[in-house]
Amino acid sequence: MSVKENLVNIKNSLPAGVTLVAVSKTKPNALIVEAYDAGQRDFGENYVQELVDKEVVLPKDIHWHFIGHLQSNKVKYIAPFVYLIHGVDSFKLLQEINKQAEKNKRIITCLLQLYIAQEDTKFGLSFEECEDILNSDAFKNLKHIQIKGFMAMASNTSNEAQVEKEFRDLKTFADKISKSFFKIEVLSFGMSGDYQLAINCGSTLVRIGSSIFGERSYPA
Ligand SMILES: *Cc1c(COP(=O)(O)O)cnc(C)c1O
Repeated sequence: MSVKENLVNIKNSLPAGVTLVAVSKTKPNALIVEAYDAGQRDFGENYVQELVDKEVVLPKDIHWHFIGHLQSNKVKYIAPFVYLIHGVDSFKLLQEINKQAEKNKRIITCLLQLYIAQEDTKFGLSFEECEDILNSDAFKNLKHIQIKGFMAMASNTSNEAQVEKEFRDLKTFADKISKSFFKIEVLSFGMSGDYQLAINCGSTLVRIGSSIFGERSYPA
């Protein structure tokens, strides 16, 4: 099936209020344009250089989501245009985003990445570290970032009960933060393999790559 057909099928299966981010990492601009022409505007990328190269040549009304692991020294390259940074996993990174946002005279919206998986390969904050950041005065002084919500990745396992438990823990935590701090508007979780389960567990934004663009092959 074509990119357009994949996109339409997925879109039709999403409830109202759930945003679809088309994850285009490693995929050529021609495929992104195909999705764009089918009406898609939110795209996700994992690598700074690749994102910068694509942003220059692709339409300006694309919302670029940075969903990879972001190093502090690379924030400056995406700060002028990035729409939402999903993977913020340290206060140091948040400070750097704030600094670069101020330089660009804008407010950059971010998601804090939470660690929910039963693996030690995934980045992210524990629930406790997250609350510590939200409680700190240093956080309240950052005027050029806005935290919209959380991003997370479940364990890479075929055990659906495990994945569901991780998603539900995240949703419970988000509800708690909505009551005690500020309204969590965006919950970014769910990918090609688990997005339906994610939506059932309260996801408001799914990041889907291979089910739209086909399997990725990475250069050696
Ligand atoms: C690659 C990637 C996705 C998309 O994964 P698919 O399984 O291809 O849908 C989603 N989120 C993150 C953080 C990714 O790195």
